[in-house]
Amino acid sequence: MNITYDMLLLRFGEFTLKGKNRNRFEKSVLMHVRSLLKAYPKAKILREYGRIYVELNGEPAEALTGVLKKVFGIVSVSPVRVCPPELDEIVKTAVDFIGQTDLSDETTFKVNARRVWKGFPHSSQEMNHLIGSPLLRTYSQLKVQVKHPHIELKIEIREDQTYLYYEVIPAVGGYPLGTNGKAMLLLSGGIDSPVAAWSAMRRGLEIECVHFYSYPYTSQLAKEKVIDLTRILSGYAGRIKLHLVPFTDVQTSFTGIGQDNLIITFMRRAMLRIATMLAEREGALALVTGDSLGQVASQTLPSMNVIGRATELPILRPLITTDKNDIVNLAKQVGTYETSILPYEDCCTLFVPKSPTTNPNLRIVEKVESSLPGLSELIQIAVEQTETIIVTPELSLDRNLEEIQDDVVKEKWF
Ligand code: ATP
Ligand code: MG
Repeated sequence: MNITYDMLLLRFGEFTLKGKNRNRFEKSVLMHVRSLLKAYPKAKILREYGRIYVELNGEPAEALTGVLKKVFGIVSVSPVRVCPPELDEIVKTAVDFIGQTDLSDETTFKVNARRVWKGFPHSSQEMNHLIGSPLLRTYSQLKVQVKHPHIELKIEIREDQTYLYYEVIPAVGGYPLGTNGKAMLLLSGGIDSPVAAWSAMRRGLEIECVHFYSYPYTSQLAKEKVIDLTRILSGYAGRIKLHLVPFTDVQTSFTGIGQDNLIITFMRRAMLRIATMLAEREGALALVTGDSLGQVASQTLPSMNVIGRATELPILRPLITTDKNDIVNLAKQVGTYETSILPYEDCCTLFVPKSPTTNPNLRIVEKVESSLPGLSELIQIAVEQTETIIVTPELSLDRNLEEIQDDVVKEKWF
């Protein structure tokens, strides 16, 4: 059934407990909301202590709820009906509002009125009764239940307006985007790294993504898949910078040197070196990966130890102890799963040896790397040839990369 609404009420999350940061955090959420509302020009934002209200002014409530429940730092969204602070109007609106929901013989309800404006002539207790009675008269199937009713109609009577709402739609929560700094995320086309990206953003990290591709061994479609994953993630961030690194020459420099079972180790270390250079250029203070302990040969503890030594930046691994099943469920929730399971080759699945080592030796790895004289130059060239695009939720993949790049927005991060 189509319910009409006038406003959305957004509630802040856990960070409100932390006194001195609250103002900064609330401001970040507000800025994030403002950037997302650019696509809905009639919507108007009102800020109140501990809450944000969005007046719809005719913009679609459902679409806006869908967008705003992705804002980190917001724990829930309630669509609200608004009417004047007069008894008749409140009764009329309540009857109409409840009439728009699906009611059955089982439906229980209660009214929870709050007189914020003390000049209103009826107390909160009286109001519960004054609104509850006409609702029971109009909808004979309704029953009152004080504890855990299906519908708890909240009525907030203020001096200028009255708010009515009963739905509480869960939102992503976490810390507001960017309030814990910036990190560089290694984004493959797999299931894990997009979830790691989301988890990092949810803890207040702004992320930039770096993807390594090995054209022509990996196809244009593999690259587009990663752009599409970034687009989905940008629904939570407004926009995300994506660095596309040509990795073919670095990768092929490790083949044919008689160290096949160390190839993945070399590749991962080269990736971390390049990601570190990009992070330093962009002012990111950590790297993030989708590693999960023991999942594959490069994610054993000895492997992660040897690979991780290629960078001095901290490596954050949000999924390190998460079970694959839980990661898959999160990917579905975040919205990246269907794209992640598309079949295109990732550069790491190429040249994969029959038995990649699970226990590389750091001394040997370092010795082999130093015997490859062209390696640091190849890494330098890869960084120089990196293309950077800015990805937004509206990005269309019908266009090719050059066209997308022409669109790169120079304006500051929101
Ligand atoms: P994912 O599902 O994220 O690909 P995975 O379980 O397949 O993870 P690996 O392929 O071993 O694991 O990759 C481990 C991590 O290394 C990834 O989560 C990602 O952070 C990074 N990574 C791997 N391949 C690439 C790539 N082509 N570009 C950027 N990062 C990559
Ligand atoms: Mg992978």
